[in-house]
Amino acid sequence: MYNWLPCNLAFNGVTPEKCIPYSTWDNFEKFQDNLNMAVDDLSSGVDLVMIYFGYIDTYGHTVGPESPTVAEGIERADKCLGAFFDKLEEKGMFDRANIILVSDHGIIVNPFGVTSCLLQKIHWV
Ligand SMILES: [Zn+2]
Repeated sequence: MYNWLPCNLAFNGVTPEKCIPYSTWDNFEKFQDNLNMAVDDLSSGVDLVMIYFGYIDTYGHTVGPESPTVAEGIERADKCLGAFFDKLEEKGMFDRANIILVSDHGIIVNPFGVTSCLLQKIHWV
């Protein structure tokens, strides 16, 4: 697990074998480093890696999901992921890897200009 908090939290009694503690939500170089280390771990036999990166979520909350800052962040994150995919390809792992990108929630600007989380708009059954 990379950029994770808390590292000592057990899930079903299991804690991660490797955990790089959370240190930042906005550093693209650190995000790329974590992606590179993830490829190295996967190529040495690790089955699952998880990486947290909070830039887009945090700026979505603070300056709005339609802001240039968020658009730039998505572009930069996309470049980091592109490099990650290239590295997987170089190691011959891309076709065998399952890559799942998740978000904690979506975000919108409502008619009053206030940013809302989509989770608050969904009526769960
Ligand atoms: Zn959020």
